[in-house]
Amino acid sequence: MTVTVDFRRPGLRHLSQPTLQTLSEAVAQNVAIARRRTRARIMAVVKADGYGHGAIAVAKAAVAAGADWLGTTDIADASRLRAAGLTVPILTWLNPSGVDAEAAAADRIDVAIGSIDELEALLEHGSAHVRVHLYVDTGMAREGCPTRDWDALIARARQEQRRGSIRVVGLMGHLPLADQAQPEANESAVAQMHRARRRMTAAGFGAPLTHLAATSGTLCDPATHFGMVRLGAGLVGIDPSGTTELHGAARLTAAIVHGATAAAGTPVGYGGTFVTGTSTNLSVLPLGYADGIPREICSEASVEIRGRRYPIVGRVSMDQIVIDTGADSIPRGTIATVFGPKGGPTPTIHEWARWAGTIPHTIVTGIGARVRRAIA
Ligand SMILES: *Cc1c(COP(=O)(O)O)cnc(C)c1O
Repeated sequence: MTVTVDFRRPGLRHLSQPTLQTLSEAVAQNVAIARRRTRARIMAVVKADGYGHGAIAVAKAAVAAGADWLGTTDIADASRLRAAGLTVPILTWLNPSGVDAEAAAADRIDVAIGSIDELEALLEHGSAHVRVHLYVDTGMAREGCPTRDWDALIARARQEQRRGSIRVVGLMGHLPLADQAQPEANESAVAQMHRARRRMTAAGFGAPLTHLAATSGTLCDPATHFGMVRLGAGLVGIDPSGTTELHGAARLTAAIVHGATAAAGTPVGYGGTFVTGTSTNLSVLPLGYADGIPREICSEASVEIRGRRYPIVGRVSMDQIVIDTGADSIPRGTIATVFGPKGGPTPTIHEWARWAGTIPHTIVTGIGARVRRAIA
């Protein structure tokens, strides 16, 4: 895969404008990898603004690459995808401020329902013909209907469907342990899914579109695939199971805004936590924790400038970081790459996750709002 980075954008000449490069090509390749692992339909999950990459861009790229569905948390997010011209089915499963049934029906947005309460809240808004997926808890105690309440929920949903107030089209679960990449870890959830499906069929629902797996399940365990898989992290190059090399979809760059030489013994940044050992060159990048650079990074954390890695020194500030470029004096305006798709000296989001003691998801979803997303 080649990655195009457009340095000609005028914004970069104004040195304070960090840029996040997003790549539809990488998303397409990741969808293709998932496609080779499953015959099930693929839902592209673009919650949290497409894992920080831009939901519309990721959604368009995924659909162009063959994703059959889109998924996001709430109806407002889904409506934005519709407004952007995306026409494939969209599922939402977390509507914290209540389901706007009118909006859902008008924009053909499906709603996952995990309790009779949620179903009643949906019906209160009166709109007919909302498409519903019953969401069962398959071992996470986070969302979805606990096993003991399935029958009541299924019966009530059946009644409402007979009345014409909803149309149940799907059955959904979520895997708590798929990242372990061991099919045995998923066995109980898979068995529960089969059981819930049988109950729905017995209640007269026919064969609902059944979906359980996210990225790890998609890549590692065909028994979890059922009729559809929901691919989120994998779209942007993150494989939580650590089994498959995917394509990073973003490049975070910024131009150096300031440089100076520092004598040996110079404290750098708030608290003077780093002190230069020898005389050296320091470069400042206009990216700080407000832009998603984790303040918790260890001393290994680095950026790439002109094909070489240089360490970040001193504390991460809100708006900037300081780079120690040693004997190399780097001109103001030179582009530094914070992370990019795998290759050579450019750090990856996986390395950043290690440096910050977190997972790559938080690196990409943490990219701040003032970082300009440029789609390549
Ligand atoms: C986030 C999410 C997904 C996607 O998970 P990934 O591991 O990022 O692929 C799928 N289903 C649900 C319910 C989710 O919340």
